[in-house]
Amino acid sequence: MSLTRRNFIQMVPASAAALALTNGSTAKAAEPIHHVTVLGGGFAGCTIAKYIRMWSEGQIAVTLIEPKAKHVSCVMSNLVLNERLKVADLKFEYNDLQLKYGVNVIRDKAQKILGPEKQIKLKNAGWISYDSLVVATGIRFDKIPGLDFKKIHHAWIAGGQTNKLRNQIRAMPDAGTFVMTVPKSPYRCPPGPYERACVVADILGRRSGYLDGSGSTPPRVVVLDANPGIQAEKGTFTRAFNDLYGDIIEYIPDAQVESVDSDNKVVHTTQGSFEGDVVNVIPTHSAQWILKASGLTGDSRWADVDPVTYATTNTLFQDVYIIGDAQGTAQPKSGHMANAQAKICADSIIRTAHGQSSYTEERLQNITTNSACFSPITYDQASWLTAVYSYDPDTGSMRLVPGSLGEAHNWSSGNFNDMFDWSNNLFADTFK
Ligand SMILES: Cc1cc2nc3c(=O)[nH]c(=O)nc-3n(C[C@H](O)[C@H](O)[C@H](O)COP(=O)(O)OP(=O)(O)OC[C@H]3O[C@@H](n4cnc5c(N)ncnc54)[C@H](O)[C@@H]3O)c2cc1C
Repeated sequence: MSLTRRNFIQMVPASAAALALTNGSTAKAAEPIHHVTVLGGGFAGCTIAKYIRMWSEGQIAVTLIEPKAKHVSCVMSNLVLNERLKVADLKFEYNDLQLKYGVNVIRDKAQKILGPEKQIKLKNAGWISYDSLVVATGIRFDKIPGLDFKKIHHAWIAGGQTNKLRNQIRAMPDAGTFVMTVPKSPYRCPPGPYERACVVADILGRRSGYLDGSGSTPPRVVVLDANPGIQAEKGTFTRAFNDLYGDIIEYIPDAQVESVDSDNKVVHTTQGSFEGDVVNVIPTHSAQWILKASGLTGDSRWADVDPVTYATTNTLFQDVYIIGDAQGTAQPKSGHMANAQAKICADSIIRTAHGQSSYTEERLQNITTNSACFSPITYDQASWLTAVYSYDPDTGSMRLVPGSLGEAHNWSSGNFNDMFDWSNNLFADTFK
């Protein structure tokens, strides 16, 4: 098989390419052939910034705009609640992107994109221009009447909120009640809310002695799901809810949140009102405001894209790409998936910068993404879920590859250990 550029791109190991860059190929780089601006330094944004620099061998300049000094990974953040991890373990700086790959990192927040003018407004720096723009700004939460995040914590964008929810759980009475909500689908990390229910049931069940029989009063975890049923790993979570935490977890489907009494910790839903010692409301998500404000979502919650390139389908915007949780394909919203989409988009942008097409038959046959989520079910056991998607030229969309949906048969300590290997690989491939 001859080594085409595309094969090379797929085969090149991250570490080897990084070495080539740090050994000086960028130091002497001539004027860049193209300039890419990336908004958002999470899973999608960091992966694309790194891979464009690596795969273009420094020929394409990349500027990453991110308001926070460090990214806190949501992936693995439910383990902060049971104190297996600290938020500090999930913090990633942008030093490696800058020093190893030559990404220009600017701490600022993007406020508006003007498609025809190819300009972005930054909060501090004002208007700047771009050749290509990648929007990887993740999610925002829809408003709920009465919901005050200073009192009721979502812990669904990780960081301070995660620590606050952990502290509230720490301070709960042993046989207290934890009320949580599951947002309307699609939301980030389909198994995530159900894994959180298990993690909290395990914390309270062990602390109260109910799980080992030394305590007689079960704590309660009330799961209010806006959806008609469990959205991922249904068999696994049904068994965990019924068999492992049968007296603790109460699962209520079709419970859409109408309002929240943040002072009295009450959630009012279409299935009734629920009061807790701790209430964890995860509202329905949409793409970040900047996409809405700029006209990239229209009336949808997410931005429509062509999955061959991740370019917006809004023809007023040329060379604007949307990846990660903000884009609106039917692929699951996960960090693993954001990382995969970033590589498809990086390859397409590099081709465009070299005047090549992204629509060759060979490339269209090879557009594949995948997703993986590991779910802690107890203090030291986990399950997992994987899925592979490929491009379907007939519909112009990504479809689940038949037979590719994989699930752990059981939660186990082996899966729990694998979860750390998998997440460390994902973190390294994204941020380092
Ligand atoms: C509890 C939990 C567990 C999870 N577990 C898994 C798992 O097991 N596997 C998995 O693959 N995924 C998991 N996920 C999902 C994963 O975290 C998200 O899907 C992933 O973070 C999406 O990446 P992103 O880059 O699109 O968004 P993010 O990672 O959220 O990054 C967006 C970035 O954009 C920045 N930003 C926002 N607005 C602007 C702006 N206007 N200008 C500039 N920058 C901006 C933000 O500060 C942020 O850094 C989990 C999520 C949660 C909450």
